[in-house]
Amino acid sequence: MKKILLILCTILACAVSANAKLNVVATLPDFGSLAREIGGDKIDIVTLAKPTEDPHFVDARPSFVVSLRSTDVLIDGGAELEIGWLPPLLQNARNPKIEIGKPGRVQASQGIRLMNVPTNVTRAAGDVHALGNPHFMSDPIIAKAVAQHIAQSFSAVDSANAAVYDANYKKFEAAINAKLQEWGAAMLPFKGQNVVAYHDSWVYFAHRFGVNIDIFLEPKPGIPPSPSHLTEVIAQMKARHIKAIIVEPFHDRRIAEKVANATGAKVVEFSQFPGGLPGTDSYVKLIDTLVSRLAAALK
Ligand SMILES: [Zn+2]
Repeated sequence: MKKILLILCTILACAVSANAKLNVVATLPDFGSLAREIGGDKIDIVTLAKPTEDPHFVDARPSFVVSLRSTDVLIDGGAELEIGWLPPLLQNARNPKIEIGKPGRVQASQGIRLMNVPTNVTRAAGDVHALGNPHFMSDPIIAKAVAQHIAQSFSAVDSANAAVYDANYKKFEAAINAKLQEWGAAMLPFKGQNVVAYHDSWVYFAHRFGVNIDIFLEPKPGIPPSPSHLTEVIAQMKARHIKAIIVEPFHDRRIAEKVANATGAKVVEFSQFPGGLPGTDSYVKLIDTLVSRLAAALK
């Protein structure tokens, strides 16, 4: 009797797990958004950071460890963007399924060539981009590669739904391909123009769309703007007739406004993350918004 019960339970448990959704955790909302595109109704997704939080400095909550402990898949950047807060959470979660190298771990930067890799790094100087620039998701062509990587992981961990994940990836790829020309055309009149940003988050976006974003209100990534540095930035902006300053929701907008007042430039609010600006609940809508906001400011 005991044996029959045991077999029954095993069968029932199997049935439950066949119907259960794949549990996915994404560190940041851009990865979470792509996971939703690929996973659809086959996954349950938890995204740790809020779209308005600085991805370098996310407030870690105890619930993060609980989510990480029980997840089947973890998607993180893999380029030290989350190094200030993710490693201790992973240590506490002790989940072998999401160790590096397992099919349940997607490190988005794998296979991506990072830009601005420093030749000589001293973290003591406060550089939070020690491996190279980790903000690669603002390039839609890179986002396609990351989406494909996510689809491969989901298929490996949940092979019963592999066809769904593959079809959803193809849909995402087609959506990006259909938009690339439109985005490129909208940015074409501004080719070669210089734009200032608060933090060095936009080098991949700039590279894709032909603008230069290489002057920053921060003297170094992660170091707050100092008066002497801002004086230098204002002089450069005047000399180069720079018309736009990009800020993100978690930056001190007043500093950008001051620089804008001194130079006649416009402050443009950007976000790296779907949901960080109104009307950007998908990756495609986010890039739509960034392109139209920047084009409007540079006109
Ligand atoms: Zn950064």
